[in-house]
Amino acid sequence: MRVDEIKNGVVIDHIGCGKAMKIYEMLSLDALETPVAVLRNVPSKAMGKKDIIKIDGQIDINLDVLGFISPNITVDVIRDGAVVEKKHIDLPETLTDILQCKNPRCITSTEQDIHHLFRLTDKEKGVYRCIYCDTKA
Ligand SMILES: [Zn+2]
Repeated sequence: MRVDEIKNGVVIDHIGCGKAMKIYEMLSLDALETPVAVLRNVPSKAMGKKDIIKIDGQIDINLDVLGFISPNITVDVIRDGAVVEKKHIDLPETLTDILQCKNPRCITSTEQDIHHLFRLTDKEKGVYRCIYCDTKA
């Protein structure tokens, strides 16, 4: 795979250095059949170093996961070799079923059918708290 030549796919750019593997894991990219390239420690003017993930295939990406792991990520959607959409990902206000509450007495720990919801309570520090019991993520 020539990583510069994606025909139809997604480029996740401006990932904080060292965060690419975490994203790879959380998006379960290892389950994809399509080519995936993870580039690490790529020199960047704005960031010093950054990671990039290129996926040669049309997949749905959970953008909240990206924003949570590394804010300021950009996602380029590529069709027929051209960028057709550029998304800037910021810290999401809420996270649904991405984190699990650590509090064993939280209703999400005791009940099966409840969504795991967290909300951003400190944007500066990127702190999320469980909406049910307020436990820090
Ligand atoms: Zn909780």
